[in-house]
Amino acid sequence: MASVSLPIHSLATATLGVPRIGPRRELKSALEAHWAGRLEETALEETAAALRAAGWARQHALGITQIPSGDFSLYDHVLDTAVMVGAIPERFGWSGGPVPLATRFAMARGTSSAGRSPDADGCGHAGHGGTPREGGVAALEMTKWFDTNYHYLVPELTGDQRFTLADTKPLDHFLEAKALGYHTRPVLLGPVTFLKLAKAATPDVNPLALLDRLVPVYADLLARLAEVGADWVQIDEPCLAGDIDAPTRTALHRAYSAFARAVPDIRVLLATYFGPLGDALDLAVSLPVAGLHADLVRAPGQLVPLVERAPREMLLSLGVVNGRNVWRTDLSALLDRLEPVLATRRSDRIEIAPSCSLLHVPVDLAQEDDLDPEIASWLAFGVQKMEELQVIATALQSGRDAVGEALAASHAAVASRAASPHVHDAAVAARLAAVTPRMSRRESPFADRAERQRRLLDLPAFPTTTIGSFPQTAEVRKARAAHARGRLSDGDYEHFLAEETARAIRFQEEIGLDVLVHGEFERNDMVQYFGERLSGFAFTRNAWVQSYGSRCVRPPIVYGDVARPKPMTVARWQQAQALTRKPLKGMLTGPVTILNWSFVRDDLPRETVCRQIALAIRDEVRELEAAGARIIQIDEAALREGLPLRKDDWPAYLDWATEAFRLSACVVSDETQIHTHMCYSEFNDILDAIAGMDADVISIETSRSHMELLGAFRAGAYPNEIGPGVYDIHSPRVPPVEEMAELLRLARERLADDQLWVNPDCGLKTRGWPEVRAALANMVAAAREIRAELSEAAE
Ligand code: GLN
Ligand code: ZN
Repeated sequence: MASVSLPIHSLATATLGVPRIGPRRELKSALEAHWAGRLEETALEETAAALRAAGWARQHALGITQIPSGDFSLYDHVLDTAVMVGAIPERFGWSGGPVPLATRFAMARGTSSAGRSPDADGCGHAGHGGTPREGGVAALEMTKWFDTNYHYLVPELTGDQRFTLADTKPLDHFLEAKALGYHTRPVLLGPVTFLKLAKAATPDVNPLALLDRLVPVYADLLARLAEVGADWVQIDEPCLAGDIDAPTRTALHRAYSAFARAVPDIRVLLATYFGPLGDALDLAVSLPVAGLHADLVRAPGQLVPLVERAPREMLLSLGVVNGRNVWRTDLSALLDRLEPVLATRRSDRIEIAPSCSLLHVPVDLAQEDDLDPEIASWLAFGVQKMEELQVIATALQSGRDAVGEALAASHAAVASRAASPHVHDAAVAARLAAVTPRMSRRESPFADRAERQRRLLDLPAFPTTTIGSFPQTAEVRKARAAHARGRLSDGDYEHFLAEETARAIRFQEEIGLDVLVHGEFERNDMVQYFGERLSGFAFTRNAWVQSYGSRCVRPPIVYGDVARPKPMTVARWQQAQALTRKPLKGMLTGPVTILNWSFVRDDLPRETVCRQIALAIRDEVRELEAAGARIIQIDEAALREGLPLRKDDWPAYLDWATEAFRLSACVVSDETQIHTHMCYSEFNDILDAIAGMDADVISIETSRSHMELLGAFRAGAYPNEIGPGVYDIHSPRVPPVEEMAELLRLARERLADDQLWVNPDCGLKTRGWPEVRAALANMVAAAREIRAELSEAAE
């Protein structure tokens, strides 16, 4: 870009929020040191303040004019909002006054008598929270933030809930920034979305009905912000991208009218994101707010109606740079769409922004030295996205010539990606084009298959198995790290893995499990392991994204056509199966889960990418079967996570997602048993789709709800076999035999005997061996007890 002096433009740029974790996960290190008792609270706060200051400085240096404050959090912004309004459940022992940091962390992580918190969890990505500790206090539940891979803590509200301004983070951070010379725009989670995300302590309470008690607390905070000099405040109401009913519409009207009346000095930018406003567009533009942010990446078609219908005085924040993905924006194409809009609207009524907070993308591409330079040239992380915002704003304000070089670079990246042989593989395209419906159907219906499989496998009633992984001990992780750094040779690492596997198999035989697993000692992560072996995937070194609290993930980047150059698991399966006469499951991750936990290319429909991955997994399934595997498990831990925000869009997603699963699985003969696993149990609303996957056996999470969730599967509704988890692997507790036997009896009330399998809730990788040994021995004993009851009844 020529350094001509650009005119000072009134066209603003904003980020809506930036990553909190720090370029090198500094927050993670500080939090974990603090929890381990190695870092004082004041030192933690200093680290956090330094990260905020660096974030503001970075945005300022990149020319962002509307810099947010209050978007930072030590753990989670929904938790912070609960704390801010004093929604702290009684069990945390808060009785007014400033909320201690320890209370906030107790809400996030729970406490135990031993002082350790329950962060660990078997499911690769999501934590659950909510598991009570013996002698401790249970954390708030944790769940996914809309359709992202970020998790928030679910506020708990009671019918007689009182709200009070218990914490003033937005005010404190505004002042902190002000002291550093930044005039920021504070960010709040809106009261309506807050209530809609909350959970009632008892079923008779409707959180939204608490709105009138909550609004004054927000109004009080807004007034205080005005007093210290804030003029604009960003209030996020992402619930507007979901299904909103009449009470929600009324609530939005009431809340924002109340703010406009109570605090006329504060201008509110109402931020929506993650999807089109759809029907809610008219509502949004009619609210008494000074500005509206809309996601124009997920919903590009919204641009014209938005501009036409919004009042002339309303500031429109145009979310045009993707805040959810890592690709560079095609800037010229974007400007083609934006320029006509600007012709009709004053530039001081326009702001250029990412589609949503930059929380969901990694910090800075400059930290990736190892990435293939060609692939890197197509990418934009947080810093690069801010640069794009600046280029767009300048081009709109001063003409494209003012940013000619930047536009040329963007164009070159787009062109290189479109033409790159690394992206486009003719063989993959040809194979995809040749896919027929027949390929995603088993040969025979389930009942016929089941009969043949039973004959061949000859398993006892209520067969016992595990979900796949065994404890990833410090030793296992050390060996893997040493191997990755080249300090352990391939041969030595293989030897180590073979020993671990052999030990796991001996253990499973000793305690008498019926269907064995190899233990997954070679896998760091259920997606990464496969991504590293498939073409079309790239991996980063530092591109971390917050998952929850101190937990970060480094999603793989699917940049090109996906294929499987060679077998990924077959040799290890063979090696393990050779050690036992019992059937050993082949263990794979399914296409939908691989897709949902990756950054996915944006030049193909997601379903096409998913189908490519399905074909690659299908190759592996075929070869496992050819090698002799009689049972193959294809995990779809993240299938539910991909559900669109609006129910109307569910059927289309479920159609292609379940079809992709079947495409990966249905290459086998009737005799081969396909299993799948899902780490949750909310199936009521998607049971048809789950049944449509047509896996012979599905294992799910149910122990924590005492099999209640099996209601959905009640006899008839779900025809195939099911392993409802009888052992909650999220807790180190060893369930006694009788407890698991009782759960099995409950399961028998709901399902047919020949439908039932016996297994834990999820993989055991986060657990320790002593508890796993004890718990699985008890599980096998429980299954035997139930078998005995079955044969007594038959006599
Ligand atoms: N097979 C995987 C394991 O046992 C499944 C993990 C998961 O469902 N998240 O670890
Ligand atoms: Zn699981």
